[in-house]
Amino acid sequence: MPLNPTVPRPPDGGHGSVPTVREVGGIYIHVPFCVRKCLYCDFYSEIDRSRIPDYLDALDQEIRCADPPAGLIFDTLYIGGGTPSVLASNQVNRIMATVRERFELCPDAEITLEANPGTLTEKGLRALRRLGVNRLNIGVQSFSDKGLRFLGRVHSAEDARTSVRWAQDAGYDSIGLDLIYGLPGQSAADWIADMTAAVTLAPHHLSCYMLTYEPGTPLSRLLEKRTFKPLSESRVGTLFQTTIRFLADHGYTQYEVSNFARSSDKQSRHNRKYWSMAPYLGFGPSAHSFMPPERWWNVGSIGRYMELTATGQPVVDAKEVVDREGQIIEGLYLGLRQTDGIRIPDFENRFELRFKEVFGEVLATLRKKKWLQDAADRCALTPLGLRFLDSVTSMFVSRDFSGIPTSERR
Ligand code: SF4
Repeated sequence: MPLNPTVPRPPDGGHGSVPTVREVGGIYIHVPFCVRKCLYCDFYSEIDRSRIPDYLDALDQEIRCADPPAGLIFDTLYIGGGTPSVLASNQVNRIMATVRERFELCPDAEITLEANPGTLTEKGLRALRRLGVNRLNIGVQSFSDKGLRFLGRVHSAEDARTSVRWAQDAGYDSIGLDLIYGLPGQSAADWIADMTAAVTLAPHHLSCYMLTYEPGTPLSRLLEKRTFKPLSESRVGTLFQTTIRFLADHGYTQYEVSNFARSSDKQSRHNRKYWSMAPYLGFGPSAHSFMPPERWWNVGSIGRYMELTATGQPVVDAKEVVDREGQIIEGLYLGLRQTDGIRIPDFENRFELRFKEVFGEVLATLRKKKWLQDAADRCALTPLGLRFLDSVTSMFVSRDFSGIPTSERR
């Protein structure tokens, strides 16, 4: 996949003009409301849902005031959170209508809504599908009720199964499930039972995330108090390898460190934009935007966000220009996460350097450890290399790019 995907623009009125290409970006909408905070969660969201109507007014204003970047069309709209499925279908409709008014969405745009079991109804899912939501990502996290209680989820395993069946009946083009592994005491057999429950439902996409203890979350405080014993790093690493093997045996191809799809057209088009450094715009508190080389992000509280929009002020909290060195580091980090890795000719063109000369030593070390796939025009990690992604990335980024001699540049 190219770093910045392009699609042909129709010829200008058929008068023989040369067709040009337009960049294709993504749009992210943050819905910062949840029924209850899960114990492990460090995403920004609040549980006071009485603020939803005022929040939607503020969001509407932010989207309307945004300048559509020249020459950019959008082929993904991702409504995430938080728990967007706490919204009524007419509220989702309003967001989608404002986005369509302000930005050019491709006719075949991937439109994803994140949903949680326990907030869904059969009727609501059918209504969202009729509005044009074509991809549903359901935060199941576990098919074990004990695991769900540990994570502080609001739903049961049976709620999750019912939600998936309703979504299938409603006819979504793509249904994805999120799962978490590495819970205290979890054995390989427990995790395989969880994944078996998931693949039995035949979703198109699975995201399997390792449980992390983020600072400031209730779960990390419980860990500090030694309320439970976390799984050791090596056991979590083994579960990661188990995930890849089990899902491959059940028809799911890994395309990113945590993401698996039944076919390439069921991969998350939107998330691939983040990993390929494609442009995207984000709306709502704490949402990030990236229009290379600039990145900016919004204020992180609903209250402040609503105050600013009410007085017609910008909601951007900070902005940065990602310099060449920063873009190289991001290109490495994000490219290596994907199983098809970094396409070397694209990387060389983008950053004007000779990849194999600059990173020759690192590549040799990775090859020795069997962490590198054997491919001429790609730098891609083996499943074992992906297990040690952080170490691999550090090996690449420890290179001082500012000091790359001219002879190593193209
Ligand atoms: S539902 Fe999602 S966003 Fe909300 S608290 Fe739980 S993990 Fe966080």
